[in-house]
Amino acid sequence: MSDQLAFVDLAVSGVRGLRPYEPGKPESELARELGLKLEDIVKLASNENPLGASPQAITAVREMLGELARYPDGNGFELKKRLSQRHGVAPQQVTLGNGSNDVLEIIGRTFAKPEDGIVFSEHAFIVYPLVTQAIGATAQVAKARNYGHDLEALRAAVDASTRLVFIANPNNPTGTWLTAGDLEAFVAGLPRSVLVVIDEAYTEYVDEPDFPDASRWIGKYPNLIVTRTFSKVHGLAALRIGYALSHPEVADLLNRVRQPFNVNSLAQVAACASLDDAEHVRKGVEMNRLGMRMLESALDELDLGWIPSVGNFLTVDFGKPAGPIFQAMLNEGVIVRPIGGYGMPNHLRITIGTPTENARCVTALRKVLTG
Ligand SMILES: *Cc1c(COP(=O)(O)O)cnc(C)c1O
Repeated sequence: MSDQLAFVDLAVSGVRGLRPYEPGKPESELARELGLKLEDIVKLASNENPLGASPQAITAVREMLGELARYPDGNGFELKKRLSQRHGVAPQQVTLGNGSNDVLEIIGRTFAKPEDGIVFSEHAFIVYPLVTQAIGATAQVAKARNYGHDLEALRAAVDASTRLVFIANPNNPTGTWLTAGDLEAFVAGLPRSVLVVIDEAYTEYVDEPDFPDASRWIGKYPNLIVTRTFSKVHGLAALRIGYALSHPEVADLLNRVRQPFNVNSLAQVAACASLDDAEHVRKGVEMNRLGMRMLESALDELDLGWIPSVGNFLTVDFGKPAGPIFQAMLNEGVIVRPIGGYGMPNHLRITIGTPTENARCVTALRKVLTG
């Protein structure tokens, strides 16, 4: 290209302003930088399951390895069947994705044109603004209340241009959540021409009597889409698999937009096996509950503020820019997550790990803060 013409000028307008998603720092990279062994690094940065995948899922993947030369089942027959039974919907109402990120992007590309509006909250999961920007749609951002989603503000942000609303329940990175009564009233009050996506990536971790399972409302609200993932409590983040539940006509449209083989065969068999291993999920949830209580009291002892979370992570308020604390933690071999990109430069998000990992994290934090 000549000096006058840059490739960036050729990109579509949404992409020009796009900044790539910043993933948590990989353990291998930090190990190299610090000259440490991989085992000595504690990664609490991406809300992964510290117990790993279900042993049954690992076996299923091993058994599938002989089939690597074959294309996967593009319709995900077996997995859709199981998911439809689990959620009480028809298989035609399930859309599989290469991670729920893929599903969220397919939803955006299916329904939002460049001139349309997409509503989400301040501090909401970063994929919603990324999808919006990539399409060139207009972000209609509602103010948060106490870091959580404010349903009144979200409703007020919806106007005639709005095509989609994204809500994470609970939300990442704040761990805040909405009650069944409030959330269903919000969905019921939306015009039918506005699709509402309820992202339930952390739903298994939540143990609150008022917490909704929005998948039960699918039959009632044709404009509702619920997304789930196998990346969190199921421990399959590396395989990339998630799904949406929706009205069958919506699923049909999503199915036209997705790539024909967007979910690989290892992911499909691992997901099926994971659904069968309720014990593994239970263990993960229990370990998380104990780790959460431990981390909360350690933070109280250190006189640090935190946002009450029902997810598998806790977001800590340092009351000043948290970048240097993040760096100092790295030097102790502990990777947590800066969330300046979420408009929270004074906070760090810490994933709940194993008891040993949590203890390492607290020790590092204490050392970094008290010298
Ligand atoms: C982690 C996460 C997801 C899951 O993403 P995958 O693409 O399925 O790995 C979805 N939504 C939220 C809010 C998340 O935090």
